[in-house]
Amino acid sequence: MSKKTQEEHNPLKPIIAHAKEYGFVFPSSEIYEGLQAVYDYGQNGVALKNNLKQLWWAAMTQWHENVVGIDAAIFMHPTVWKASGHVDSFNDPMIDNRDSKKRYRADNLIEDKAAQYEKAGDTQKSAALLTQMAALLEAENFEGLRQLIIDEGIVCPISGTANWTEVRQFNLMFSTEMGSVADDSNRVYLRPETAQGIFVNFLNVQKTSRQQVPFGIAQIGKAFRNEIVARQFIFRMREFEQMEMQYFVKPGTELEAYEYWKEKRMRFLQAILPAEKLRFKIHEKLAHYANAAVDIEFEFPFGFKELEGIHSRTDFDLSSHQTFARTKLQYFDEQEPDKDKRHYVPYVVETSIGADRLFLAVLSNALTISQGVDAKGETKERIFLKLHPAIAPTKVAIFPLTRKDGLPEKAREVFDEFRYDLSTVYEDRGAIGKNYTRQDLVGTPFCLTIDHQTLEDGTITLRHRDSTEQERLSVAEAKAKILAATSFKTILAQL
Ligand code: ATP
Repeated sequence: MSKKTQEEHNPLKPIIAHAKEYGFVFPSSEIYEGLQAVYDYGQNGVALKNNLKQLWWAAMTQWHENVVGIDAAIFMHPTVWKASGHVDSFNDPMIDNRDSKKRYRADNLIEDKAAQYEKAGDTQKSAALLTQMAALLEAENFEGLRQLIIDEGIVCPISGTANWTEVRQFNLMFSTEMGSVADDSNRVYLRPETAQGIFVNFLNVQKTSRQQVPFGIAQIGKAFRNEIVARQFIFRMREFEQMEMQYFVKPGTELEAYEYWKEKRMRFLQAILPAEKLRFKIHEKLAHYANAAVDIEFEFPFGFKELEGIHSRTDFDLSSHQTFARTKLQYFDEQEPDKDKRHYVPYVVETSIGADRLFLAVLSNALTISQGVDAKGETKERIFLKLHPAIAPTKVAIFPLTRKDGLPEKAREVFDEFRYDLSTVYEDRGAIGKNYTRQDLVGTPFCLTIDHQTLEDGTITLRHRDSTEQERLSVAEAKAKILAATSFKTILAQL
């Protein structure tokens, strides 16, 4: 398939177009032809993303009494990344196709092949291939990985050839110099994950929050990775946002905590995304420090892919920081009856999800095209964003039916009723039908129309986005209904 036809067949195309057209996501520096794998969020995008972040924050820190939040700096002492293993081994095995000059992650090419076998019903062949790949990755046998790609007849999707280079490792961290002298001793990194900011603050938080193990620390923040294969819109970006939580537990209880968080995180996602589009995928290959790991995959328009990772990381990170920083990172457990076991380095269970990836999952799931019948009885295509009301960028849109007879003034009064509590827009231009359509396209769940009857009896028309049904209610009734439907409680109550 040529590059052009491939782009035409990109299943994300309608989402990318919608995101741009309606102020959700723009390519970065677009007037300079963009910057690869970097994106900007527009007026509706930032509202949706902020809502997702606030929801996650509430689900972690507000809902769980024993989880608190922090906001660590992006720059950290360079030794942090030595201790975490990122300087030495935050690499991806890459392979180039000599004809198309395109670079791929070797493991992704093999995984795609396994998915093809699976799709064709050959589950055994798929599983065998993944096991073989896991063994080669484990042994860092790159020549073996290359041979596997060739033996499996994997070709470059662009050139269609198997003219592959050798497999090489690329470090994914961005670096820069701090201070005025540009030499290696001043090298600092842009954090490739937010987790390390939590580990190095473990004792600060534990002591000042008076939390006792088990407890968690949550953080939302930017992370940077020099992704070599940066494709698929905001699925894989070079600058992105993570929402991570590290849960510190007594050694030996980590698998129990792992099961707990696995369940909790799945329930969270199921509250805003359809259950049939979510599944667990146990890791074939465990990182050397992990004793259990699972991804929650979402069915994106291009197939099931990782949305969130839940990892039981043992005491790897804290112990490593103890060694590198020559500082004790131990917890004193008053409850432990055995005196000799009271001081220990806690084990950690991590939950980690990309805010942008969640945004993509939510947006692609929400984009709905349905056939409707218009006022003239003609069948018409209707496009709307079926977002959960609690995360929609705008919750209510208020329109006066006409711009005269005191309707705008009355509508403004209603607007004032709502704007303190909810993200509300007021619009007095254009026909009501067009205004409804415009709000549908950005996912506004409720519209209120103020007409002449409103002046008489105070009632308004409440229009529902998904069903397009309308009902006549008092302003107070409408407000109560909308507040209930848009509250985070509707989601948190399901956790
Ligand atoms: P992948 O295998 O897709 O590269 P990963 O296993 O490297 O992801 P983690 O290091 O576990 O990802 O990061 C946790 C989460 O951060 C991921 O589940 C994903 O949601 C998000 N994430 C990771 N890399 C990116 C990226 N380049 N762009 C957007 N989100 C990302």
